[in-house]
Amino acid sequence: MPRIAVVNRQLFNPHESQLMADLCPVNRRGEPCITINPADKKIDIDEKLCIGCGICVNRSTPGSISIINLPDELVSLPVHRYGRNGFHLYNLPVPQFGKVVGILGRNGIGKSTALKILSGQLMPNMGGETEAKYEDLISFFKGSEAQAYLERLKNKTIKVSYKPQQVDLIPKAAKGTVKKVLEKVDEKGELAEITTLLELTPILENDITKISGGELQRVAIAATALRKADVYFFDEPSSYLDIRQRLKVSRFIRDLADKNTAVMVVEHDLIILDYMTEMLYLLYGKEGVYGICSGIKSTRNGINVYLSGYLKDENMRFRDKAITFKERAETRRGESTVQVSWAGLKKKLGKFSLESEGGSIHRKDIIGILGENGIGKTSFVKLLAGVDKADTGEIEESVRVSYKPQYLESSSDELVENVLRDAIDKYNTQIVETLGLQFLLTRKVNELSGGELQRVAIALCLAKEADLYLLDEPSAYLDVEQRLIVSKLIRDFMDLYGKSCMVVDHDLLFLDYLSERLMVFEGQPAVRGKATGPFPMGEGMTKFLKELALTFRRDPDSGRPRINKEGSVLDREQKASGKYYYTA
Ligand code: SF4
Repeated sequence: MPRIAVVNRQLFNPHESQLMADLCPVNRRGEPCITINPADKKIDIDEKLCIGCGICVNRSTPGSISIINLPDELVSLPVHRYGRNGFHLYNLPVPQFGKVVGILGRNGIGKSTALKILSGQLMPNMGGETEAKYEDLISFFKGSEAQAYLERLKNKTIKVSYKPQQVDLIPKAAKGTVKKVLEKVDEKGELAEITTLLELTPILENDITKISGGELQRVAIAATALRKADVYFFDEPSSYLDIRQRLKVSRFIRDLADKNTAVMVVEHDLIILDYMTEMLYLLYGKEGVYGICSGIKSTRNGINVYLSGYLKDENMRFRDKAITFKERAETRRGESTVQVSWAGLKKKLGKFSLESEGGSIHRKDIIGILGENGIGKTSFVKLLAGVDKADTGEIEESVRVSYKPQYLESSSDELVENVLRDAIDKYNTQIVETLGLQFLLTRKVNELSGGELQRVAIALCLAKEADLYLLDEPSAYLDVEQRLIVSKLIRDFMDLYGKSCMVVDHDLLFLDYLSERLMVFEGQPAVRGKATGPFPMGEGMTKFLKELALTFRRDPDSGRPRINKEGSVLDREQKASGKYYYTA
């Protein structure tokens, strides 16, 4: 059975190196299975000598060593390995001309590595110490679709254009106005058309360093599409965008594919992934340790297989439980105690005005909030918390609010352990371990990735004493698994402690899974906002979707919501009957 040994060099404590070498039974019988690397004083493990006893895994800092037995039938050589005991990637997804193909999988499972290989930015090493040659790769993939693609990459008859995941790094590399930045990459001469389609015209003269995350994302998408290419790669194109923009960007990306052009997308918003792609690959394995790419599947089947946690074709279970949307806790809210109520609220904040006719939040309520950015969602909660006073209207019983902001502060060099002290003392099992934060405790806050920082921020917010918890975009940077873990944590926490929660998010599947009622914010960003609801799920979604002229159905197998094709029979029928959203 092939075995891989991965040492997380960030987590591994070099003071444990000698102990690991002394404990290893293979070392004890005189063979050098664990050796100490003179460069960083941390250990290297010889995968061929290791017998997989697990002693080093159990005796070292949690999460710092992984020893994995791989199924024989699935893998031979990795396509790429980061260093001697680093992450292993097996198999590759392949772009399809004329189609948008998705990649779905956890963070740290090799999606970005695969895209870098396919875009020619990373020459893989096939598990060796040095870069492989295209000839070796081609012979490795002989007879598969990857062979033809790699041959074109080798012959340089394929040109690729790549949108990176972290668009917030763009202002560090690009300088000048948005227009100047885009003009430099406009090989197609379509700047005016594409910037109109992506609603960038009003910000063309703005400096690239002064625009918001959502604007930066759309600039990055425009820059990628403006290049002449045969294959376009988009790594997480929906981050920072609200739902209306996500749909617009999805249609834009879909339209790029034609018989001479292939498009490949990594995306965690399953409704958007479903809407944007025709086929997809699943990447599964263990985050930071190894990733295996599945065979290609239709998008509908691929997402359902992913949610089921079991790959039938590969006979591989990668999650204990299936994720299902049929047992949503829609009827759970029976708690009648009103925690806070309001009526006839009006508030002017500079040029922005906010209003709400009235509503109430009950104990154990989980209220999803839908609406564009800049439309008064945070200002509304500040009124409920008594931080700001309404100009007119009444609030019965202001509540203690704990708030997780949309943008996370990452500059602190404090240890995660110190920042999370309260959460560890009070809710170690329930919050810290559920979110997998026990592996981050010895890291500094400013060293965390976006997804790690998000999980720390959620833990911090929930560990504060409050009656009402407001989480602004908790799904940002999280993968699908983490989004569902966070949903369950929030639901269990509110149930157990009789608290209530409001969640602002743009991932509709996440909100569908989590919320019991919905508030809808309408109006014009930065000008006026009107808060309506809370409504029952179906009513709130219908109100929101009517504005977008979209209808949803439920997938018969997984129960997940799916967007109906515009103008399809179902779409027309549902619009005619006013059922924009099926809750069951
Ligand atoms: Fe040695 Fe492998 Fe056992 Fe670790 S798992 S102690 S490396 S034999």
